[in-house]
Amino acid sequence: MTTTEEAHAPSPSHVILSTQRVDGGIYHRIKHPSSSTGVHMTFGLFVPSRYADIASIDATMDESRTTRRGRKDNVPVMFWLSGLTCDDTNFAQKAGPRAFPAASREGICIVMPDTSPRDDPSIHNVDEYDLGIGAGFYVDATTAPYSAHYRMYSYVAHELPTFLADVLGIGRNGCRSLCGHSMGGHGALTISLRGPRGSWAAVSALAPICHPTSPGCAWGRRAFDAYLGGVEAGREHDAAVLLGKLAEPPFDEILVDYGTNDEFLTYLEPMSLVDAARVCGQALTCNARDGYDHSYHFVSSFVENHVMFHGARLRKRQAEASAASCALSNPYATTAGRPIECMAMVARAPKMPLCLETVIVDPPRAGEVRVKVICNALCHTDVYTLDGLDPEGLFPSILGHEAGCIVESVGEGVTSVRPGDHVIPCYTPQCCKPSCVFCQSPKTNLCPEIRGTQGRGLMPDGTTRFKDKDGKPIYHFMGCSTMCEYSVIAEISCAKISKDLPLEKACLFGCGVTTGLGAVWNTCKVEPNSTVAVFGLGAVGLAVVQGAKMAGASRIIGVDINPDKFPPALALGATDTIDSSSLDVPVQSHIAGTMTQWGVDYTFDCTGNVHVMRASLECAHRGWGTSCIIGVAASGHEICTRPFQLVTGRTWKGTAFGGFKSRRDVPRLVQQCIDGTLPVDHFITHTFDGVGCTNDAIDALHGGSCLRAVVRY
Ligand SMILES: [Zn+2]
Ligand SMILES: [Zn+2]
Repeated sequence: MTTTEEAHAPSPSHVILSTQRVDGGIYHRIKHPSSSTGVHMTFGLFVPSRYADIASIDATMDESRTTRRGRKDNVPVMFWLSGLTCDDTNFAQKAGPRAFPAASREGICIVMPDTSPRDDPSIHNVDEYDLGIGAGFYVDATTAPYSAHYRMYSYVAHELPTFLADVLGIGRNGCRSLCGHSMGGHGALTISLRGPRGSWAAVSALAPICHPTSPGCAWGRRAFDAYLGGVEAGREHDAAVLLGKLAEPPFDEILVDYGTNDEFLTYLEPMSLVDAARVCGQALTCNARDGYDHSYHFVSSFVENHVMFHGARLRKRQAEASAASCALSNPYATTAGRPIECMAMVARAPKMPLCLETVIVDPPRAGEVRVKVICNALCHTDVYTLDGLDPEGLFPSILGHEAGCIVESVGEGVTSVRPGDHVIPCYTPQCCKPSCVFCQSPKTNLCPEIRGTQGRGLMPDGTTRFKDKDGKPIYHFMGCSTMCEYSVIAEISCAKISKDLPLEKACLFGCGVTTGLGAVWNTCKVEPNSTVAVFGLGAVGLAVVQGAKMAGASRIIGVDINPDKFPPALALGATDTIDSSSLDVPVQSHIAGTMTQWGVDYTFDCTGNVHVMRASLECAHRGWGTSCIIGVAASGHEICTRPFQLVTGRTWKGTAFGGFKSRRDVPRLVQQCIDGTLPVDHFITHTFDGVGCTNDAIDALHGGSCLRAVVRY
């Protein structure tokens, strides 16, 4: 486990006291000024790792609160209310190892508020465990001295939910529920029963104080006397009383567990709740657990059941909220859940032109997203597969992997994007799972989560979403298949981007441009004043030139066999160009020997030609030069050089998608483009309209002058 070195503030209103990795996600402790209690309050927050952008709060710190508020409408949250003497940490420490992995599986956050104000100068922690600090009882005190700050009802019922929704985007649209233990069970039941109908998706409790105004409950009488001036006022905070008065049941079911050996059973009176439920017709499951006591051993034994109980109801609420917001704002709502018939360019066989066909695109399944493809840029990998050079290429298939899309609908459990979002499909996914050693490592972007099925042209469940008009399946390609008006991709392959950059430009970040930039910035980490050589000045090579210039390289040598490629390279920052076909010595002798004494610091192969890869390595600087392979070589080809080249200090490496972690980094590149610090317009040399023009775009790409041909659908 790791704890952040220093507290940091994602917004002026709150401070992250600590952040720890726990089984299933991240556990934060957050302190914020509370208007209801008038003092600072601290709460715990467990976030499943699937909500990566919330889980890694520091990663999104630089974003405006507005952006954060807009993006995570329906992340569900269970409130855990603790019992007497507890603070915000007891549950996390004692029951967290059981509750957090379960919440991660259910896809819900858990928020753990404190049980009373603690920074209240008027209340000293006297030797009373059932009054004052640690014993707020989830009421708004009306009697001095507690009335100044002891307003735990307002804090838990209103202020904290609003804070979570507005600042962290958690629990919006009623995607929140209540659970608690002992005094917290009382809080969960009473807050949920007092709230407007539907304001909480579910409620359950472990060993709750069910009837605190009863003569037998010393805790309730003492608290209500001190905080509210008498037991009678406490009837507004008594679960058995509140439930018995309701005309109809507020929940589909309420779940309660208690231990038969609970030493405080006479204070809890679970049977009073059973009776009240019967009166109003509320379904109540009340489990008497044989031999258990009142402790956290009891809580942690049954908390998993409670988390699952909440998970099922919160997910239902989440789906309802998504459907409601789609109906209001989503122009695609009419197609959600149904197959879509649309046009696609189908690759029927190698070396054959693509066929314009009507295809059926099935709705997204769990963890999947269906997108409307707005535009697609041709990349050489598509052409390479179509030309039959990839022996593992599958047919019939729908190619295309450099696209700009709008989310049409999402499958079950998808929360990171919603209809209307702009996304870039990424053939390198980012699952963010704690168990994914690749996603967890800062050294790589190669998430293998769906690698097996993606390589076989299938969705993660082993099936396809495309059918031709005869009902025969069509394979997917690189997890993207964007030569179709609609496609289905995995949620973990969706990079959600700003709507401020037209998709015709943003699509370029789906492959080539991103790869070239990342090779420079991530894979090689080119430093200011470095010298660089770039072999092959297509779109990827030009992105390398551009990235090297931005990194501060002092000399950038562009190498190609087509001098027509030189003017754009020089415009982007190349300082020298070489037509290697016109040399009478090997290009490596020319660069390392004639142009420089020992070679250049960094070299990049963007050709896919293994002979060029060797030349590229051999003109890397003696002692420290690094050569990076970016181009995809033809199947079966091998690289070679003399080992002496490496012994004398050269490093040979390669990159995929430029080492960028796709879902985290593509949105940042898009933002840089919006900000004007990363122009990409110069890559778009050809545009076409209609998916049917894709063959024309391929012809253009085969011609020498094309960098990127963008087809608008
Ligand atoms: Zn590509
Ligand atoms: Zn992963």
